[in-house]
Amino acid sequence: MKKFSVAVIGGGAAGIVAAVSSKRKGNSVVICERMPRLGKKLLISGNGRCNMLNDDLFARHYNIAARALVTSIFSRFGKNDIADFFKGLGLQMFSKDSRVFPITNNASSVLKILETELRRLSVPVELGFEAVDISDFRGGFIIKSRKGAELECDKVILTGGGMTYPALGSDGSSYELAKQLGHKIITPVPSAVPLTVKDPLCHLLQGQKIFAAVKALINGKIKSEATGDVLFTKYGLSGTAILDISEEISIAINRLHKNDAVVSVDMAPFMSGEELKNELARRINIFSEEDFLTGILPNKFNAAFKNILQKRDIAQIVNTLKDRRFKITGTRGWNEAEFTAGGIDVTQVKEGLLESKIKNGVYFAGEALDVEGKRGGYNLAWAWASGFVAGLAGSD
Ligand SMILES: Cc1cc2nc3c(=O)[nH]c(=O)nc-3n(C[C@H](O)[C@H](O)[C@H](O)COP(=O)(O)OP(=O)(O)OC[C@H]3O[C@@H](n4cnc5c(N)ncnc54)[C@H](O)[C@@H]3O)c2cc1C
Repeated sequence: MKKFSVAVIGGGAAGIVAAVSSKRKGNSVVICERMPRLGKKLLISGNGRCNMLNDDLFARHYNIAARALVTSIFSRFGKNDIADFFKGLGLQMFSKDSRVFPITNNASSVLKILETELRRLSVPVELGFEAVDISDFRGGFIIKSRKGAELECDKVILTGGGMTYPALGSDGSSYELAKQLGHKIITPVPSAVPLTVKDPLCHLLQGQKIFAAVKALINGKIKSEATGDVLFTKYGLSGTAILDISEEISIAINRLHKNDAVVSVDMAPFMSGEELKNELARRINIFSEEDFLTGILPNKFNAAFKNILQKRDIAQIVNTLKDRRFKITGTRGWNEAEFTAGGIDVTQVKEGLLESKIKNGVYFAGEALDVEGKRGGYNLAWAWASGFVAGLAGSD
């Protein structure tokens, strides 16, 4: 049986960096990856551009439960360390609105640079190795694959990812391994995900994208707010603003089984209610019904709001445009979500180290943990930083 000092389970963003950092410390490391190649999700990140980091890298951009752990890791390997790590590998980057991308605007450059480092360090990679069991063995562990292969190691770093885009590799199987070891899993739900709505307006406006301000309300209370694109689709609502408020809604619907999630859309955030009222009042005798909203919203909105516009009730039109409510029936699910909210409970993981509080010698990194960042490079930043620190496993 092959023996290593460290086995990294999962060859995504976190796992590759964990292996590099561990090998640089002089450990014999292996990566076990269930897919036929490394880093498949990395390749589609940021629409293939890979928003790999954010210049404003602080714990406040992550879920509240994870902030202490995130702070402890960024204080060991933060924004500048991540940037230096990649610069040191030869990757040039640029920032736009604080979001950091590879200069090539191509996620495959990031993966290639990482794979080159793995090759330089001679880190073996076991592809098609789906870890299904971690058992104690002579003070270390034996890891078994679904196909019956086994390898021995002193330490394990579990970086199996979350549950989004399962066809790319992370299908939640790392939660099963963590559970075997006694870890609690916070019910994973899709995040940064489009929302489903049964509302004729979505049908009428299908394909229309507007700039809007949105709020997620659960039981009438505002849980999150965002400004950006809202895209009306035949199934409901999408666009960056919707993705940005989807986490609270997904948790309410998919984890807490609540049925009172509502999204309020302000379709004219660039005008106050008063300004909109005055402008519409000015239009009453000038604009026809078919053109009443022209210049404020795309033309399709005149037809979609025909019933209200016909009444010429300015107060009702203002209310509708500034606070149109959509009852949310669900989320589009794992195949359309960018992140996982939930995962391995961070309270059972040692701050600053990422070692299990339950099982010595087991470490965690990346999206497998209940750590969710906002859109904007925060999830990859977490994957790199946590991967690097977990890779130091016991060497300091
Ligand atoms: C469409 C999309 C766009 C995104 N864009 C961005 C972006 O621009 N910026 C950003 O910050 N984040 C983005 N993300 C999120 C980001 O890609 C993830 O948070 C990040 O890749 C997580 O890294 P990870 O290594 O923890 O997990 P993953 O990248 O999912 O890697 C986990 C690996 O473990 C393997 N694995 C799982 N279970 C086992 C097992 N039992 N045995 C062996 N191997 C196993 C999987 O095959 C996989 O290769 C995006 C996500 C999606 C889906």
